[in-house]
Amino acid sequence: MALPNFQENLQKYAKLLVSKGINVKSGDWVKLTITVDQAALARLITKESYELGAEKVIVKWADDEISKLHYIHQTEDVLTNIPEYEIQESEDHILKHRVSRLTILSSDPGLLNEVDPTKVAAYQREAGKAFKVQRVATQNDDIKWTVAAAAGAGWAAKVFPHLATTEEQVDALWDQIFKTCRVYTNDPVAAWDEHKKTLNEKATKLNEIQFDALHYTAPGTDLTIGLPKNHIWACAESYNPKGEEFIANMPTEEIFTSPDTRRMEGVVRSTKPLSYAGTLIEGIEVHFKDGKIVDISAEKGDETIKKLVFDNDGGTGLGEVALVPDPSPISQSGIIFFNTLFDENASNHLAIGSAYPTTIQGGTKMSEEELKEHGINTGTVHVDFMIGSNKMDIDGIKQDGTIIPIFRNGDWAI
Ligand code: ZN
Ligand code: ZN
Repeated sequence: MALPNFQENLQKYAKLLVSKGINVKSGDWVKLTITVDQAALARLITKESYELGAEKVIVKWADDEISKLHYIHQTEDVLTNIPEYEIQESEDHILKHRVSRLTILSSDPGLLNEVDPTKVAAYQREAGKAFKVQRVATQNDDIKWTVAAAAGAGWAAKVFPHLATTEEQVDALWDQIFKTCRVYTNDPVAAWDEHKKTLNEKATKLNEIQFDALHYTAPGTDLTIGLPKNHIWACAESYNPKGEEFIANMPTEEIFTSPDTRRMEGVVRSTKPLSYAGTLIEGIEVHFKDGKIVDISAEKGDETIKKLVFDNDGGTGLGEVALVPDPSPISQSGIIFFNTLFDENASNHLAIGSAYPTTIQGGTKMSEEELKEHGINTGTVHVDFMIGSNKMDIDGIKQDGTIIPIFRNGDWAI
């Protein structure tokens, strides 16, 4: 590691993740999901968690190579037969201990390229069902949770292929993680508080106005998206039922809400590549009519994006509209990270598929039917694609038809 002061910064990062991310309080249980190559970070996170009063820290180790071997050698039957004791353990952590979940992403985005995609899809479908309690508790903010990143070698090689050595690649990726998570500032916790304040001001303004629709214009884009009544623009901070604050994604630059998936009209073009299911998808053009995607094409990855939209429940609808100004640090880095945690924070984006019930008032208490009645997409996938640029204008349209500029030339105008 040639990155200056790496150990010191890794420690600052670990401290930031537990004190600001999942916000460990005395008596909390913490569940850390991390790969074995990031053991140094795992030890620091465990230590910092106990120092903040955690009662128990559970570390779930994974290893990319071993995961791949499981996928290659296990039959689909064995892969998808998730043992009852694993489900029980996960439900016990959620229901009895309200465990705080910290997930560290570091894997090579192309890890499973050689694995039969139907096997991967089958496992993901079964795991989604088996661990439903954990997934729903997480999506509804019943527990505190944070997703953050660490620089795995395979991932770093994909982001920085022009750098000569693995060490240089890993250093360059750590440098970006530290930069975008504000670790290089004197007091990262204070820097996050400041960042949250800025995001909150915009979200509060948009929540007060309660626009009826958004109108996007940019080269190749002319799209109107309805917003449901009582929608909530959310940003960095979230709260568990006890009112304890946490940050679900680090880094984060977005302010997002749910669209009314029944009211979408026009055309939109993607502005950055999308890495989905190990495939790079570029030059996406989406046509909407009467609240549905009626046509989607891509210059690269056309078949994959068509399958995503037309083969999945809720795939022809949208589940997220997110605003990220073009001058934000991840956008300005110009780097494609092949990881949604970073790439979605580089640009205005939309998500194909399901919405977060937290983005409409009372949403976390609504049944699937009730969510649908409010125009909320309850589909089974959620895939963000990037549409922002410094040429994008966005207008807010109020119920009475008044138009207020929200974005001009890719930056805030409100
Ligand atoms: Zn988003
Ligand atoms: Zn999203």
